[in-house]
Amino acid sequence: MKALVLREIGGRLALETVPDPAPTPSEVVLKVHANAPDQLDVTISTGRIPGAKLPLIPGHEIAGEIVALGAGVTGWKVGDRVTVYTYLTCGACRYCIAGRETLCRNLKGYVGVQSDGGCAEYTAVPARNLVRIPDNVGWVDASTIPNAIATPLRAIKGRAGVKAGDDVVIVGACGGIGIHGVQIAKQCGARVIAVDIDDARLAEAKTLGADLVVNGAKEDFSQAVRDFTGGKGAEAVMEFVAMEATMGRSYASLATGGILVFVGAQPGNAFAPDPVSLVMQEFTVTGSRHVNRAELAEAADWLGQGRVKPIVSGTWTLAEGQKALDAVAQNRVLGRAPILPWSRTRRAHRGAAPSTLSAMRGGEGGERSEPG
Ligand SMILES: [Zn+2]
Repeated sequence: MKALVLREIGGRLALETVPDPAPTPSEVVLKVHANAPDQLDVTISTGRIPGAKLPLIPGHEIAGEIVALGAGVTGWKVGDRVTVYTYLTCGACRYCIAGRETLCRNLKGYVGVQSDGGCAEYTAVPARNLVRIPDNVGWVDASTIPNAIATPLRAIKGRAGVKAGDDVVIVGACGGIGIHGVQIAKQCGARVIAVDIDDARLAEAKTLGADLVVNGAKEDFSQAVRDFTGGKGAEAVMEFVAMEATMGRSYASLATGGILVFVGAQPGNAFAPDPVSLVMQEFTVTGSRHVNRAELAEAADWLGQGRVKPIVSGTWTLAEGQKALDAVAQNRVLGRAPILPWSRTRRAHRGAAPSTLSAMRGGEGGERSEPG
């Protein structure tokens, strides 16, 4: 089969012919129809992810069709359309049992990092990691499920507990995850304040439901939040950026009793809330680490039900894999731009200026040391 292979840290992805994968008893083989590269793939190629296998076929945001089943696989059949849960968990520790699978104490790594992933015509993945794609969702759109939709859905609905009537700030609203987060917060019944630094993309966030857009490069967004909420502040602030320029303002945007959720995080960017304010106003500051499998299935449902519009700015052929990665690294992708291993033509790409907050932090989706 044809696959994109990374042979050395800092190297480029090369299109190679490699042996077709065969399933172990607990795996299935997928025909990969779409795989969306994200910042994690860029980070792997630059070597900032410890323990990546080499040579590696990257790719962890996969939409594909089962073409072969391992001897021990039950519950799935050839032809089933699926996406793939990225974390290679043990399934037995107390965190796995509790559904907090990203906190697995025996984590074996990630699809597309410690095992070969979706930048190929076929890939073998654990059957336990499969989640069904709704029948009415096409392959290209399905590539937004595993991260671009699932990650903000869990963070906003699950971790922040956003409900109707809340004011919610999305910091980094125009990155691949934030642009879906705007829609999800709106669907939860919130008033949504979208913060980024690119006016053209902020205009798109407005069409997707943002009630207020704020260019954080031109004004202090915490003040804009105060003004918009009559001095109250926001019940939830979602930090998809986590830069020094944003974290203090995110905290300052909170309403009394509000919650600040970090989804993006960057090593070295420290943030220390004042304990007096934590006590006196009972703020919550927490993080959200990707999703569990149930939340991945919920994200697929949301897309199938039309509750969130998948934002896809173009597609790539397999031969263009390195270009696809470069586009992510340079923040030229709005939403997702998947590689289609079986396509011979690319779909035109909507231009996106590499000038957002997301670009300042090194690419949309956040600087990631892990999936999600
Ligand atoms: Zn576990």
